[in-house]
Amino acid sequence: MIEANNPDLKSWVEVPANSDFPIQNLPFGIFSINNASPRAGVAIGNFVVDLSVLSELGFFDQLELADNTVFHKQVLNDFMALGKPVWTAVRNRISELLRDDNPELRDNSDAKRQVLYPLQMVQMHLPVQVGDYTDFYSSIEHATNVGTMFRGKENALPANWLHLPIGYHGRASSIVVSGTPVYRPKGQTKADDAAMPTYQPSRLLDFELEMAFIVGQSTNMGESITTKKAEEHIFGMVLFNDWSARDIQKWEYVPLGPFLGKSFASSISPWIVTLDALDPYRVASPQQEPEVLPYLQFEGKKNFDIQLEVSIQPENQEEKLVCQSNFKYMYWNMAQQLAHHTVNGCNINVGDMCASGTISGKDETAYGSMLELTWRGSKPISMPDGTERKFIQDNDTVIMRGFCQKEGFARIGFGEVTGKVFPAI
Ligand code: MN
Repeated sequence: MIEANNPDLKSWVEVPANSDFPIQNLPFGIFSINNASPRAGVAIGNFVVDLSVLSELGFFDQLELADNTVFHKQVLNDFMALGKPVWTAVRNRISELLRDDNPELRDNSDAKRQVLYPLQMVQMHLPVQVGDYTDFYSSIEHATNVGTMFRGKENALPANWLHLPIGYHGRASSIVVSGTPVYRPKGQTKADDAAMPTYQPSRLLDFELEMAFIVGQSTNMGESITTKKAEEHIFGMVLFNDWSARDIQKWEYVPLGPFLGKSFASSISPWIVTLDALDPYRVASPQQEPEVLPYLQFEGKKNFDIQLEVSIQPENQEEKLVCQSNFKYMYWNMAQQLAHHTVNGCNINVGDMCASGTISGKDETAYGSMLELTWRGSKPISMPDGTERKFIQDNDTVIMRGFCQKEGFARIGFGEVTGKVFPAI
């Protein structure tokens, strides 16, 4: 076991019992306070630790980092570029500094005052500069549901689906941090029985429950990443809401795939949970049949048991839980996705983001989009205030949460990603 994941560790920082951020997690993010410039931080309990000040005070000196300014940057890209051994060493050092039996920081009240801020006082920012963004389609339950709706049960999965992790290149400029307003997209749609398309605000605005991994190590053109080496290129994971306009998507997607029905916004949670922190929650993948090509084969546990939830909160109302799913259902894992992404020699860069695709489970309550939950609007969901939802309405807030929990291990979580939908501009 990685020592920083030891469930017996306790911090001198108070951590509430059900916190997503115990000392065994230590997710990285970018925050600002009182109009100061954004800098790198780590979450613990209800606090954020300022890594730029920790570094200035010499607490990382022993690590002999190649670049001492990485925690002062407004994104984590330069820190990630230092490589996986450095990510691990920094997380281990932070764990050591926060342990209840280590007086280094605990008994240095002057330093503590400079590095610890209550989370509720800080503003969170997009943690990385996203160069390229790819969205996969890797949940067999989601692909089967959508395929059944649009092509019928017999042709639900496209012919290639079981042989490669399908994906498309998305839009990086509109990836935003949790809490950023989302405006209802406008665009072309065409009803099945209409002769001509119309231009209007989307009527079928949806969420997609996804997770994304962030590339922390680049490759050169011509190189490919093996499934064995893939995790050395993955810094960590966030929750990802791939907002989708179903009516725009339906009219535009043939033959080149998603375009404006997706590119208006994607929201992510602000804290990146490292693969090191997720290590205790590794689980085996679903059996893949037929056998995949050699470059997609892998060894060991490459899936992760991450419990996921989606709630809808109408304005001034209590939220309603509409979905409970799990990342472990994914048919294609991240190592396979990265191996496939680079098999043609396409290079990847630090800060690239790869989302999973909608994460649905077998159970109807585990469907990761309104499209599936209401089966194209035929089974509306009733809300606490007596209204119904087929899709997302103006002034609704969509909230996604994720956490890992099992007997004998520390519960760790992702916090949440929220987005409120405003009327089209
Ligand atoms: Mn998607």
